[in-house]
Amino acid sequence: MNEARTAVAVCAHPDDLEFFCGGSIRKMADEGWQISLIIATDGDRGSHDPASSRHLYASTRREECRAAAWLLGLASMEFLGHEDGDLQNVRHLRAELTRLYRILKPEVLITFDPWKRYELHPDHREIGLAALDARLQARLPHFHPDQLRDGLDPWTITDIVLFNTDEADYFIDISATFDAKLEALRAHTSQWESIWPQTVAAVRTMAESTARLAGEGIHLAEGFKRLHVPLGPVSAGWGQSSHPAD
Ligand SMILES: [Zn+2]
Repeated sequence: MNEARTAVAVCAHPDDLEFFCGGSIRKMADEGWQISLIIATDGDRGSHDPASSRHLYASTRREECRAAAWLLGLASMEFLGHEDGDLQNVRHLRAELTRLYRILKPEVLITFDPWKRYELHPDHREIGLAALDARLQARLPHFHPDQLRDGLDPWTITDIVLFNTDEADYFIDISATFDAKLEALRAHTSQWESIWPQTVAAVRTMAESTARLAGEGIHLAEGFKRLHVPLGPVSAGWGQSSHPAD
């Protein structure tokens, strides 16, 4: 086991990671990966009840995140607290992400594919762009030089894994971790409990149809678009996956 394998996942909302790649994240954690999660908004507009309090809702969703993070085996979690639904790929957000990349020093960045066709949630598009733009900025010392004055160094992430993609070229067999994915998703009680049977059916159908793209012998899978950016220090780990679809 490579003890230095680290990844950062950057999401827009509290349950994005579990929904789109919870099976893969739990599998990576079981294999020894140190995975940090950054959540840009509190998802405090994710209620259909006009009488609900956004403030209270935000704190509920943070609690649900902590429960889910434990179930997935995450190493750490950061909440950026931006406005749900109005996320923008702007300098301030890129600076926050750049600082966290320089602190966490991940080999792998996991985030939304911002170029997925017909993605209707603006936060999903914006966080993908911001996460990728911040990756570039984290490598270069003239971006956010105040962070260098704070003692941080430039950092290069060499491997990018995009979820919620329509260009999947990398598949992870989640048959062994599918139940853990469901359990972590269900920890987001405020989102899913009232429609849980339908959610299980939809998530299973999604994993089964992705598995058909992954190849023979795989029954449940999550799919990703994978980019290797061979600049800077050589990364070990992700590219050496023993996954059968490799
Ligand atoms: Zn979302």
